[in-house]
Order: sequence, then C-alpha cells, then structure tokens
Amino acid sequence: MKLIEALEKLSNMDGVTGREDQVRELMREYLKPYVDEVREDKLGNLIAVKRGKEGSPTVMLAAHMDEVGLMVKNIKKKGFLQFAKIGGIDDRQLLAQNVVVHTDKGPLRGVVGSKPVHIQTDEERKKVINADNLFIDVGAKDREEAEGMGVQVGDVVSFVTKFARLTDKVVLGKAFDNRVGCAILIEVMKRLKNVSCNVYAVGTIQEEVGLRGATIAAFHVEPDVGIALDCTVAGDTPGVGEGEAPAKMGEGPVLTVADAGLIAHPKVLQLLIDSAKEHEIPFQLETGIRGSTDAARIALSRDGVPSGVISVPARYIHSPAAIIDLDDVEHAVELAVAAVGKVSEVF
Ligand code: ZN
Repeated sequence: MKLIEALEKLSNMDGVTGREDQVRELMREYLKPYVDEVREDKLGNLIAVKRGKEGSPTVMLAAHMDEVGLMVKNIKKKGFLQFAKIGGIDDRQLLAQNVVVHTDKGPLRGVVGSKPVHIQTDEERKKVINADNLFIDVGAKDREEAEGMGVQVGDVVSFVTKFARLTDKVVLGKAFDNRVGCAILIEVMKRLKNVSCNVYAVGTIQEEVGLRGATIAAFHVEPDVGIALDCTVAGDTPGVGEGEAPAKMGEGPVLTVADAGLIAHPKVLQLLIDSAKEHEIPFQLETGIRGSTDAARIALSRDGVPSGVISVPARYIHSPAAIIDLDDVEHAVELAVAAVGKVSEVF
C-alpha cells in the first residue's frame, strides 16, 4: 500500500469522535504486516508494537483516528434533525453542507438546510446562522419517517468530501486532521527496519473532544518518549495575518515548541531538529496556536513522559475540505523514521 493510497482511503473513511471503528479496522489491516502485534484496548485505541532489543527505551507514536463532526440531538416533528457539534467547527462552514447521518440501519445522505437567497431579507443575509438554528434534511416527511429510516438521537454525522488530487503535490480531502497522521504512522512502521528501541504505533480515539484516548493509551504503554503525529494550521492563505499561524504548506513538517497543552520537552524537540538537519529534511517551528495534541496527555502520563509533536500543515483544517502538500507528508515520515532511529542514543 502506497502512502498516498492509504491517505486517500483513510480520508474517505468516516470516523467522527467516539465512532472511530471504520478507521480503526483499516489501520489494523494496514499496520499488521509491519508490526509484531496489534491489539485494541477497552475503549477502542489501536495499539501496535514493533519490539526492539530487551531493555531498550520505548517510544510511543500517536495519531488520532477521530475527526470533527456533528451529532443528532433532536428529530423535529417535520422530520428535520437538530444537531450538536463534536469538536471545534466554525458555524459559518456548516450551511448547505452535504452530510452522512450514520444510523444503526446504515448511512443516510442529507444536507444542512438553508433559506434560499430569494426570500432572505437584507438583515438575514448579513447574519451568521449558528449551529443551534441549523438543521439536517434527510428527506423524511416527518419524525416517524425519519425514525423509520433509522435516525435516532446520538447518531453521528460526517461531511461528504471525496479525496481529490489538485496538483502533483497538493491534495484535498476531509478529515486530514488527522488521517494524515494515521497514514504517516502506518508508513513509518513500514519503513522502520531493525529498530533499536520498542516502537508503539497507537491510533487514538476521541482526541477532538479532549485528548481522551491518548490519556489511557499512554498509561498502558508507559513510554520513555512520546511523539504525536498530527495536523496543524497552515497560515499561508489570504486573510491570515503575519505571525497568526507561522506554518506554511509545502515548507516541511511542523515541530511544536509550545501549544495550549504542551511545552515540547527540550530533549525531544532537539532530537527532532537534529534528525531533520542530519537528513536534510525541511521543517518549521510553531508556537502559540490554540488547541493541542495527544502529546499533551502523553507528557502528563504517570510520572511524566518527554514528548513532542510532528505536524503536517493543512489549509482549512477542521472544515469539511482541507488541503495539504504531499511533500510535507513524505518529509514528516522521513523525520519520524529518523527520530525513532536516534531515540536510543538520547534516552
Ligand atoms: Zn488533530
């Protein structure tokens, strides 16, 4: 399986937070040939391991499997679905989105309904309609029909965006945050040969609502070093001011110095920087972004785990369609492989 093919398949999977099953099964299949063991914990983290020499340090690589989405909270009498947001989503991006409602009876297509322009007042045109006043239309004529189609409170809702290649290097897709981390994780395990340390590849659950899966996975794995593989904001688009988001698409993987939940451990940050320099891999440094990654929880596990983050810069992150550069993905893989190779020198 080529890296880009894995990324395409993973991006097209639906795995709204708490319902990561499809992604987990695909990752299990992809990881299996390259690791000594794959298992799942009680809450659904996927834990794969490639063992090094007896007594060697343990590194935990973590990529969250979940994506932001919606959840049905009420079925209105006329069959329209009110919803809650799962994870950080900008309300302005929801209007008129194509969605899939995941019911026990199978997936249903729908759209976030909107009032046509013909009948909006001037006032209405200027206003943002917040998520509480939006609804999903699955074509049901009333509540009974919607229920008959399988809809119930708590069904998760994902966006409909198929992976697409925009240029040789640039691709568009949904849930790159964090299927790109998942694809990198698989590729890293594939490329690692004769590892000198124990390498755990963990697909985590429920990152988008508070880094929950990583919390228990790190406790279980007890790593000496933690590295999260994730996605970050590419601030190279119109409307983003200088310094607001320093990372640019195509200029290399991003190393977190500090974010809202983590100050990267200096030894881990240096390990990543040295690995990049030794292998002439471009990289970017980032600090001051709101939000965090699984590394924040790994770092605080047990009596502390030196941790860091390798991210791929993505434009339009947390929207239904993001854009990334495949060179950044390849460089992130090379950097993670190089860093894992140096872990036993440093820890
Ligand atoms: Zn993420």
